[in-house]
Parts: sequence; structure tokens; C-alpha cells
Amino acid sequence: MKLGIVGLPNVGKSTLFNAITQAGAESANYPFCTIDPNIGVVSVPDERLTKLKELYNSKKIVQTAIEFCDIAGLVKGASKGEGLGNKFLSNIREVDAIVHVVRCFEDPNVVHVDGSVDPLRDIETINLELIFSDIEILERRIAKTTKALKADKKLQGELDLLNSLMATLEDNKNIRTMEFDEETEAFVKTLNLLTSKPVIYVANVCEEDLADDGASNAMVQRVREFADTESSDTVVVSAQIEAEISELETEEEKKEFLETLGLEQSGLDKLIKASYHLLGLISFLTAGEMEVRAWTIKRGTKAPQAGGKIHSDIERGFIKAETISYEDLVQYGTMAAAKEKGAVRLEGKEYVVQDGDVILFKFNV
Ligand code: GDP
Repeated sequence: MKLGIVGLPNVGKSTLFNAITQAGAESANYPFCTIDPNIGVVSVPDERLTKLKELYNSKKIVQTAIEFCDIAGLVKGASKGEGLGNKFLSNIREVDAIVHVVRCFEDPNVVHVDGSVDPLRDIETINLELIFSDIEILERRIAKTTKALKADKKLQGELDLLNSLMATLEDNKNIRTMEFDEETEAFVKTLNLLTSKPVIYVANVCEEDLADDGASNAMVQRVREFADTESSDTVVVSAQIEAEISELETEEEKKEFLETLGLEQSGLDKLIKASYHLLGLISFLTAGEMEVRAWTIKRGTKAPQAGGKIHSDIERGFIKAETISYEDLVQYGTMAAAKEKGAVRLEGKEYVVQDGDVILFKFNV
């Protein structure tokens, strides 16, 4: 899963991205992240793993991870090829979701590209570039379909849909504000339009605004209201504070520092959780003496495909998934005790894996 960080210059993207790379997941597990300087990989925090490690006396914890991609350089005019515009837009096409950083902090020392701090204007500027880029793609597609329609009348439905997408864009609205049935949704997805991608707005605030999650910052409120109109999430962070947190060596230090700020979790952790939620992702867990580990799947994934995340052999030779919920396992203390109480289920290939399932796959090799 890959998220692209976008936003106007000087809003705090690099500061946030650097915090992400600093906090980075152990690179041994994710070799690719050391190669591309624009990609940062972070672990998805999951307290359940710590508890499982105790229960199983495991040697180590392996968290699941998500990738953030720094898409700096998006400026007004990017869709017209200004700056390195088109290159950045094509980078956004490759991500699963967009993290849109907006500046909600005042600081006379940090220049704003448009002269004043106004998060809604900033959001509009970026969104318009994405809309222009989508319009260009749709224009080409509509021309192609119109031509093909002469030979194949069945394409009329598709053309009507393309035209309705175009009407939304021309109204300066994002495709993600539209609602579709399942089949249409799948088709729209194949168009890979930038404005159909899910978005999280990150309101970058000053330290003082963190404790009440930006509630007393009018700019944050406006961002929230806007995000609500398109059912997008808003996460309040202070990029500068995240940078400081990422310098801390241990979890204890991090916790202490957060406590002094009156916070339970870092902005980065909030962002990771929001991204997970946004993309409809859940984790299932595996546990043994060697390691306890979390695996990312889409909500709705069935047992064999979940097993396929671990190894393709498991999916191919799937027999059963010995499954227990994390809560049950913790309640009974050991797998053996849970089995005695009948809390361990043998699930078949139609079983839809749930968040927090601890699974041992049985399969033929
Ligand atoms: P980018 O162009 O969006 O990548 O922005 P940068 O991360 O380079 O930040 C631009 C400037 O704003 C830098 O001087 C940062 O130190 C500063 N900055 C970033 N986040 C904050 C913040 O939360 N508060 C304040 N006061 N300054 C910030």
C-alpha cells in the first residue's frame, strides 16, 4: 500500500516526510525503501503484537508497514506542465491514496507561496491541478469512445458515464464525491483518475494546537468542514513536533514526550491509522516462537487469499485456517487452553478473515 504526500511548497511536507523516514521501519525487512529517497516505509503500530509476543515467548515482532511517497513540487500550473508538473502528476497516479498536507500554522519566518496562510485556497489550488489533469485524460477517452461507438452501439452507456464524470470535473468537483454502483465503481477505477483516489487532509498546526486536536484553530475547522463535504478524513499534526519525536530513540522516551504535550499518540500514528481505515485495510496475525507478525489485507479477504500474503503455497494448497480472535486468545492465555474451551475454529476457504484473527494455516505443499 502506497500513499502519496502532496501539498503546496512550504506547507511542511518535507518535514513530515523526513519524520516518516526517520521513524522508518527496519530496513532489513523492506529493502526497497533504502533505494528510493522519495519513499519512506513506516511500521503500522499494533499493540496486540506486544501482548502476543509475551504469550508465545517469541523472539521478535514483525509489524506490517505502509509506504509514503514524497510527491514534492506540485505547484499552480503543474497540469500545464509547469515546473516538473506532469512528472509529479504521474507519480500520484501510482499511489493508492493521497495525503494532502495543508498549512494551518502562522509563522512569519516561513513564506507562503501565495503571500498568506489560507488552507482552503491551498486545497483548491492543488485540487484544481488534479482536476485539470483528469479532464485531459477524460477528453482523450471520450474522443476514443465516441469514435468506437460508430461500430459498437453498446458503448453508449460508457460514453454517458464518461460525460457525467466530465460534468463533475467541469463543475470543479472531485470524482470521489460521486456515488456509483459496484460495477460502475469498478469501471471508474480502471480510469485511474487522480480525483477519484481517497484523500486524507493533514492539517499542519503549531505545537499549541495539538492538545485539543486543532479545535480552537479556525483554519483547522475550515479544513474539517471541507473534508466532510467529500467524506474525507482530516488528521491534525505538527510536522515540526513529528520531526522531534522521530529523533527519540526508544518507545519510552517517545511516550514521555507525548505525555508532556498531553497526547496519547503521535500525529504519524494517527495518520497511519487513518490511512489504514481509509483504504479498508485490516490486519490478521500469526504467532509462534520465532516471531509474531501482522499482515495487511483488504477487509473482505477470504482465508486462502489471506494465506497467500504469507506464501503463494498456502493459497494454492489451502486446507484449513485454524483461527482464534485476538481477544479470545488473550482471555484463555494459551492456544491449548483456548482449544479446550472450543474457542479455536477450523475455518474453510470461504471464511472472511476478521481484524485481529490469529491464524495458523494448514496447507498441502
Ligand atoms: P515543504 O515545501 O512543503 O516540503 O515544506 P517544508 O517541510 O520544507 O517546510 C517549510 C518550512 O516550514 C521549513 O522552514 C519548516 O521548518 C517550516 N515548518 C514545517 N512545519 C512547521 C510547523 O509545524 N510549524 C512551523 N512554525 N514551521 C514549520
